[in-house]
Formats: sequence, structure tokens, C-alpha cells
Amino acid sequence: PTTTRTGEPAEIDPDEMDPDALKVVLRLHQHGHQAYLVGGCVRDLLLGKKPKDFDVATSAHPGEVRAIFRNCRLIGRRFRLAHVYFKGGKIVEVSTFRANPTELEPAVGAAGAPGSEDGQAGEDLLITHDNVFGTAQQDARRRDFTINGLFYDAAEGRVIDYVRGRRDLDERFIRTIGDPEIRMREDPVRILRAVRFAAKLDLDIESRTYAAMEGAVEDLPRCAPARLLEETFRLIRGGVSAPALKLLAALDALKILLPPVDAYLREHGKEGEKTFYAFAQALDKRVSAGEVLDDAILLATLLVPISRAQPPVEESQDEGRASVSRVIEDLLAGFVESARLPRRIAERCRMLLLMQRTLTGERRRKTGAFRRHPLFNEALAVFTMTVEATGEGREALEAWQAGEVPPPRAGANSSGDAE
Ligand code: ATP
Ligand code: MG
Repeated sequence: PTTTRTGEPAEIDPDEMDPDALKVVLRLHQHGHQAYLVGGCVRDLLLGKKPKDFDVATSAHPGEVRAIFRNCRLIGRRFRLAHVYFKGGKIVEVSTFRANPTELEPAVGAAGAPGSEDGQAGEDLLITHDNVFGTAQQDARRRDFTINGLFYDAAEGRVIDYVRGRRDLDERFIRTIGDPEIRMREDPVRILRAVRFAAKLDLDIESRTYAAMEGAVEDLPRCAPARLLEETFRLIRGGVSAPALKLLAALDALKILLPPVDAYLREHGKEGEKTFYAFAQALDKRVSAGEVLDDAILLATLLVPISRAQPPVEESQDEGRASVSRVIEDLLAGFVESARLPRRIAERCRMLLLMQRTLTGERRRKTGAFRRHPLFNEALAVFTMTVEATGEGREALEAWQAGEVPPPRAGANSSGDAE
């Protein structure tokens, strides 16, 4: 393997590595296995950023890892991973070197798989199984982007680069490992991942990779809806929803990921764009400041502009039964049914959107009860971001914050139970 190792001088200070992850690597070495720190942590340390978590890749099979560590549990059915637990709830994820199954069997999808009849342009590249063990180099090559394919050898204190990831990190490019067309088609979720890394790390997407992303957008509906939703939430949770959603809009991927957002942006033109991204920016500002907002608040904030532009389907005096607009109801129901969004989150999101109409003064409620609503503070957080995004409603916000009731808005509808 020495021929592919670049042997570049270490630019990672071992002190920045997580001591528990280092312990895991060294224990695996003691038992005669290869083990490296991999993926996001190597990338982030080389970029001078603080890694979120530290992952280890090893030649040891899951059962062997399990036998070495007492504080260890195997997870995952399709491919088994080991989680090694440390104090304070910290988990070091240990995965066995794997190969890209399509690299081992170039004929994958050729035998009777849908879309593969002609064997050429329509060849089905979607990866449906990926539990083939491999070598360290194969494990680097099966990863998505060159910047994510770097290994750190903790014993030698150096970075191992099988995929020219160092060059792309230095030149600040996101580039697939291998043929971008193939890599995007075999897992279109990588479109969202490229967008996330571009937005989060402020990197450019290399042009052939970008072209392949455009080409693979039509394949997004073939991915598991739960993975799509999870990667979409990761964009929003990462505090980069504005730049990321702009990129996804440019790729024409929003119609698949967030159809009501797509429809809103199409319908409302430049003004709509301005409004929508102002909400996204207000949200990003909070998240970037370190505030941890739950998924219901994140989603609700992005949906406020859409909700405000659409009449509710039916009016009811009971907040619990009133509906938000049809497109939002459909979006949430679809996420719950096919993307495994917890019903509790969808319900909270829906409630937060309904409560906005009381907070603006558009709708009058018994204010005592409204303030005691278990989601009052969350709803107020969403409203605060609305005020920040639109510049409207400041007086109402200040009144709520001061424990008062804002004056009714002109044309407010008294739904019978006004104070
Ligand atoms: P973050 O810091 O945001 O978690 P990360 O790089 O650690 O970024 P993860 O989603 O945690 O991203 O994945 C860990 C590693 O697994 C990645 O760095 C990449 O090497 C590999 N990986 C993850 N998802 C894919 C995928 N869909 N295709 C190929 N490789 C992937
Ligand atoms: Mg990670």
C-alpha cells in the first residue's frame, strides 16, 4: 500500500484528536488490526474546525471489535457497526473496512434489475446492498467525496490519502471519488450531502460533480424517503439552511424534497424568494449562535412564509382541530407516512404554525389559556424569527414578551372566544 500513501507531513496535532477515539485505535492495533480515524473528523481538523464526532475504520470485523471492547454494542442490521461508549455519553463509531459493491461486481443491477434492460444509459446503478468487507484503500474509495476519504494514522501521526483529498481540501473543492455520474446515480442522497458540505464548510462544488448532481436529481425519488428527510434536516440543523436551500433550488431538487417550498418560490417570484430566505437566515442566525432548536421549530419556521400566504382549509374554534393550509398538511402527513417523521414532531410543527395566527393578533384566543399552552415559548420563538425576517409585528412581540396582550390587528377575526 506504500505506493498510494503520500506520506505527507502531519498537519494534525494529536492533541486535537479525541483521546477516547485514540484509545480505540490503539487497542485495535494491540490486537493486531489496522485502525484509522476517518471521514469528517480528519477533514474538519485539516480545515481547522472542531469535529462533531470521531469515527474509526478498522480491518477488524464487527464481532472482533465487540470482543475487544467491554463498553461496546453492535448496531445496524444491513451493515453492522460497533459503538464504543465512553463517559458522558460519548460514542466512538467503529466500522469495518468496506468496499463499494459495484466496484467488486461491475454487473450489479444488470441481471433483471429494473431499468437495466439496455445495459447502457439506463443501467441501474442504485446501490441496494453495501455490506461487503474490503481493504483500507477500498474503504477510502467507497466514500462519497475526496475530502471525506482521508484517513489519519494515529500511530504514525500522518494523514493517508488514497483519493487526493488533500489537494481538494487545499483548493477547497467538493469532488466525488471516482466518476461523478456513477457516484451520484448509485446514491443520489449524495446530492444533499454535497450541498451540506458546500454550505457548511464554504467550499465550491467541482464542475463535473455539479453536473452529475444536476443529472441525478430526477433519481432522488428512488431514495428511501427517511434518508432524504434526515439529510434535509441535517442541512437545517447545521445552521446553513439559506445557502443550502438556494443551492437545492438551483438544482431543481426542492420540488422533490419540499414541494410546498418549491411551489411558493415559483408562485411568488422575487418577492417570495426574498421573504423565504429571510426566514431561513433568521433561523440560521439562531442555530449558528449555538441555540439548539428542535426539529418542529426548525421546520415550522421555514414553513411560516408559506403558511401565511395560504388560507387555512377550515376554521375551527378548537386549536387542536383547526388545519393549517392544505399543502402544509399534505407535506407533514407525507413525511409521517413515508419518511418516518415522528408524528409528535409533525403535530408540534402544525400546532406552532397555527399558534402564529394568535401571536400576530390575526386571531383572538383566551389569552390566559394561550399563554399556558405547553408550546407557548416555542411558538414565541418562531414568532420572534418571523419579526426578524419580516420586520413586522414588533409591537405584538414586545407585548407578548412583556406578559401583555397585543392589540387586535385590523381585520382580526374574533373566533367567538375572544377575551
Ligand atoms: P459531519 O461532520 O457533518 O457528520 P461526516 O463527514 O462525518 O460529516 P457522516 O454523514 O457522519 O458525515 O458520514 C461519515 C463518513 O461516512 C463520511 O465522511 C463519508 O466518508 C462516509 N459517508 C457517509 N455517507 C455516505 C454516502 N452516502 N456515500 C458514501 N460515503 C458516505
Ligand atoms: Mg459524522
